[in-house]
Amino acid sequence: MENCIFCKIVAGEIPSPRLYEDDKMIVIRDIEPKAKLHYLCIPKTHFALLTEMDEARAEIVKHCFQTIPTLQETLGLQDGYRVIINQGENGGQTVPHLHIHLLGGEKLGDF
Ligand code: 5GP
Ligand code: ZN
Repeated sequence: MENCIFCKIVAGEIPSPRLYEDDKMIVIRDIEPKAKLHYLCIPKTHFALLTEMDEARAEIVKHCFQTIPTLQETLGLQDGYRVIINQGENGGQTVPHLHIHLLGGEKLGDF
């Protein structure tokens, strides 16, 4: 997808160190961390919203959620973390390429 910042990161057009990568997803650090540790799990396929999920996209999202727990220790999230997917304007989504926030490294406040 043209002009999508996360597609550009996935394609390597914008450099961003990858803490994990496989054929379906990457994990990078958020550029403006909202917690001591703040990662983004970004599917390599472009779509913005959970409402746009078809079977193939659902498989990718499932893969992300199956992989994230295997990375807990590597990412320093073994003591717990928060998983967030912002959706649309009211959800505070600023990048219209579905991504999963992982926040941790400290005791997070209520929200
Ligand atoms: P959203 O608000 O869409 O749920 O989350 C987008 C996130 O992407 C924000 O937390 C923002 O800090 C992060 N972000 C935006 N541009 C970049 C970038 O170029 N590199 C990285 N690593 N994170 C980015
Ligand atoms: Zn994209």
